[in-house]
Amino acid sequence: MVDESGVNEAEINESASEPSIFTKIMQGDVPADILYQDDDCICIRDIAPKAPTHLLLIPRRQIPRLADASDADKALLGHLMLKVGDIARQVGVDEAFRVVINNGANAGQTVFHLHLHLLAGKFFDESTLGL
Ligand code: AMP
Repeated sequence: MVDESGVNEAEINESASEPSIFTKIMQGDVPADILYQDDDCICIRDIAPKAPTHLLLIPRRQIPRLADASDADKALLGHLMLKVGDIARQVGVDEAFRVVINNGANAGQTVFHLHLHLLAGKFFDESTLGL
């Protein structure tokens, strides 16, 4: 079955069973600039920053897309939303930052392991919600 984003469901399921690049980072198999980690999530610097500050907040649990999260993930999703604010404060960008979640290939998702982009340090035009 192909979802609205044009991605085959089998592809998502397959990618969910394989460790994602982010899981490999969490396992220490791929290097990354880690700013924060706890039992539930990790925050790294994006390898190809789209803004002067571009961080990724990633749950340890490999949920492929936001749309794949369920009621069981409520606490985890709440934790991520609070933590992204904490991290913005810690890196000194809490006055102006943008949080982006891409869901599905047609929305720009390239890594099928849920993650929040924290973007700051540039002027985000009010007329665009893009990265
Ligand atoms: P998305 O396109 O929303 O799936 O975002 C994936 C993000 O992961 C992109 O902004 C990439 O630049 C970033 N990314 C991919 N591989 C790595 C990596 N090894 N370390 C840090 N960021 C990465």
